[in-house]
Amino acid sequence: MALGIKLENVTVGHATNITTKYTLVILGFMSASIYYKLGKKDLQRFLDVVASKMEVFVPVKSGEGFNFLKMEKGQEVDISGYVNTEFPAKGIFMPDGETLVSYGNKSICEVFDDTRRAIFGIRPCDMHAIMVLDKAMLGHGDVEGHYKERRDNTLIIALECSKAGENCFCESMETDELREGFDLLFTENGKEYHVEVGSDKGMELVKAARSFFKKSGKMSATAEVGCKKVIDTLELPAVMKKAASSKIWKDVAERCLSCASCTAACPTCFCFSLKHEPDISDLRKGVVKREMDYCMLLRFSRVAGNVVFRQHRAERLKQFFYHKLVYGLENDGKQHCVGCGRCITECMAKIDITEEVAKVREKYGKK
Ligand code: SF4
Ligand code: SF4
Repeated sequence: MALGIKLENVTVGHATNITTKYTLVILGFMSASIYYKLGKKDLQRFLDVVASKMEVFVPVKSGEGFNFLKMEKGQEVDISGYVNTEFPAKGIFMPDGETLVSYGNKSICEVFDDTRRAIFGIRPCDMHAIMVLDKAMLGHGDVEGHYKERRDNTLIIALECSKAGENCFCESMETDELREGFDLLFTENGKEYHVEVGSDKGMELVKAARSFFKKSGKMSATAEVGCKKVIDTLELPAVMKKAASSKIWKDVAERCLSCASCTAACPTCFCFSLKHEPDISDLRKGVVKREMDYCMLLRFSRVAGNVVFRQHRAERLKQFFYHKLVYGLENDGKQHCVGCGRCITECMAKIDITEEVAKVREKYGKK
């Protein structure tokens, strides 16, 4: 770690009595990336060391696919055949059913989870998705404290992709590359992982298992993952806006089941409701819980006075697509679709965001 020094001009006092002070601010930051190698045969031992210090979540095969599950003591981590998890890591940062507030006879308190965790195997697109969640939960002047507590205490050990899944289109969304956000970034390289250290916390993990790591230089750029699906993002928000009243949304809604699987699986969908659960044996006690909520459900748009502001499936489906491909870029400067392809994989009606955008592009925005 390098220490940077900056002179900060701080003005204090009332308008009639202004004093200017120069303050030395010591900045702690990783000045340049540090690289290591870890033999694949040592991955398990490294994760065991991490698990002796904190909870570790790893991709675990369950049924057809992988999902992030807590690594149990002595559990062997097998990621052969792993492309990505069925459900993203957002469930670790904002679990469905999490208790946020608890109250009793004369007390009320917020409940925070400060368990130290590490997640191994987050793919680049999902790290981009976590950055979208960070912006939504922490970045607009209001901080969602429960999310922050979990996020601050969770280390990200990201894992570069070597091959795209059937429905991935991360290359179109420019989320196949990762340059920030991670604590450690692993890249497969033959019998080894190339490891880039992204933070001081990541460095601490390397130090804790130092005997397994060898110093290394920067690795040359990784190969393209070869996505079969594509979205043409050139001026996409403007093109999508031209299609705001298009029949395309009605047509696709004919097939939509309003099941909300797409929104549940999407790593950047963060909407939730608060559920009040009084203790029916003593109504002076109770809890308030987070319940994930989904804009694809009719009940989501039902507000006071029994007004439903998105009555039709077409309106809800359009909202989902526009949130991902228009509003995110406008509000946060970053697309809220990271091209993970989960909404395509999970949709029983085989609705495919890349195909619908291609229809919009064909009709409203030929280059
Ligand atoms: S909209 Fe679909 S492809 Fe885009 S981030 Fe969400 S689940 Fe992934
Ligand atoms: S998963 Fe498919 S069918 Fe279900 S709400 Fe989403 S688009 Fe509609």
